[in-house]
Amino acid sequence: MSERLSNYLGGRWQAGSGAGNPLFDPVLGTELARVDAGGLDLAGGFAFAREQGGAALRALGYRERAGLLAAAAKVLQANRGTYYEIATANSGTVAGDSAVDIDGGIFTLSTYARMGESLAESMGGRRTLLDGEAARLGKDPAFQSQHVLVPARGVALCINAFNFPGWGLWEKAAPALLSGVPVIVKPATATAWLTQRMVRDVVEAGVLPPGALSVVCGSPAGLLDQLQPFDLLSFTGSADTAAQLRAHAAVSRHSVRVNIEADSVNSALLLPGEAPDSEAFALLVEEVVREMTVKSGQKCTAIRRVFVPEALYDAAAEAIGARLAKVTVGNPRQAEVRMGALVSRAQLEAVRSGLARLRTAASVLHDGAGHALVDADPAVACCVGPTLLGTRDADGAALVHDTEVFGPVATVLPYRDSAHALALARRGQGSLVASLYGSDAAALGDAALALADSHGRVHVVSPEVAQSHTGHGNVMPQSIHGGPGRAGGGEELGGLRALGFYHRRSAIQAGAAVRERL
Ligand code: NAP
Repeated sequence: MSERLSNYLGGRWQAGSGAGNPLFDPVLGTELARVDAGGLDLAGGFAFAREQGGAALRALGYRERAGLLAAAAKVLQANRGTYYEIATANSGTVAGDSAVDIDGGIFTLSTYARMGESLAESMGGRRTLLDGEAARLGKDPAFQSQHVLVPARGVALCINAFNFPGWGLWEKAAPALLSGVPVIVKPATATAWLTQRMVRDVVEAGVLPPGALSVVCGSPAGLLDQLQPFDLLSFTGSADTAAQLRAHAAVSRHSVRVNIEADSVNSALLLPGEAPDSEAFALLVEEVVREMTVKSGQKCTAIRRVFVPEALYDAAAEAIGARLAKVTVGNPRQAEVRMGALVSRAQLEAVRSGLARLRTAASVLHDGAGHALVDADPAVACCVGPTLLGTRDADGAALVHDTEVFGPVATVLPYRDSAHALALARRGQGSLVASLYGSDAAALGDAALALADSHGRVHVVSPEVAQSHTGHGNVMPQSIHGGPGRAGGGEELGGLRALGFYHRRSAIQAGAAVRERL
């Protein structure tokens, strides 16, 4: 009998009332655990979080809440080994890929602990965040308007995608808790185990006030119905689910503030003027291969489209294909395996059908089907080799600009000149990230600014940062994560900017004596 993952809601552990949905090992096919949210008192649980958790968090200052984050990070550090075991079993990831999720989550949490500490330092003895200077409202300077930022008095419902059960939890919960807002997290069913275990460890360590952090595993049914006007909804997942959430009455009628991180057809662009033996060319090749293979391409930020000058199309195809051919795929428990599995049979089918669609618009430059699986049964394991596609008709390949295959798949596309390349990148209709490769600082700077309006992040790689750049797909807590248009229109992280979502801005119009008390 596999473990039944309990829900933590209303300050207590609660089992669902149904048979539950199974979570599987995507390599071995065995059932690992079950989740079930049936029969939970959702209304009571949301009220408890709002009233008990929220009040307790708001009673603390930023410095004390930063201390809670640091204490939670310490608990997670102490249990890292267990998280790696869960990730291997439930996400089918090799250790390096598990680290992106687990250590990435702990790093993000610790970074917010440090930023909270500095914020408190900068506030001196003040408790309230001021937004700008006071502004005179008339001739008499006695009466002025001071904008303040105060913690939202609701609960943050954080709904996550399957690919980052660890990092996805903390990149949302850290800024919320630091702001003084309680969190209810709903992990994706397929990989809920890691999220549930991390919450369990932190709850059992008693480092957070009751109601500050809750977890509901299983069906999302009824969760949005609980949202009230001062609550917040932070969602990561597919564009289809995002559209349903936006249409829900909580958002459309009660103006629940919503942040959406959806899918994205990200690109990498080698600027003109680089020879096939240049460092910039080599850096592009390295990054494309890394992005295609880390977490088997199941990263919302992964490179899906690779733009190169027309004259370098063949060289790029050959260099990337040669590197991909060396990638060993299979059971992540084997030391020689570099790329593990997709998370589920459903994802395997989605990747296969997405690839079949893309193959109607592009040809295969490197075929993932040619990779024999190491210690994995192809009839059971959700493993696929990396596939590189390409087409010389970048303008006509509408499907390539529109289709996000959430797996180890990318397409090489040639461009005529810089203007053409930038126009093609924008055909992703708003992306999380684009990376630029070149050695001409002026051209790189111009291209970065030209893409900034349609990309949440532009990652510029030139030879002098070859060793120090943080990677196209790595989301650093200091930089914003999100993107306009198709990418969901959201914005997370970005250092202390993330706190804005969890605070309400209000203009206090008053005389000096009152304003001094803010
Ligand atoms: P999904 O099917 O949209 O599910 C995302 C989450 O929403 C899951 O927790 C899911 O729960 C829940 N959900 C499903 N229907 C819901 C509803 N009607 N109301 C409330 N919650 C609902 O997406 P996915 O397949 O897990 O994730 C893959 C997608 O996420 C990819 O397209 C990827 O690009 C995107 N993604 C984006 C980012 C980013 O930061 N922009 C990061 C990672 C992934 P169940 O699992 O229980 O159904």
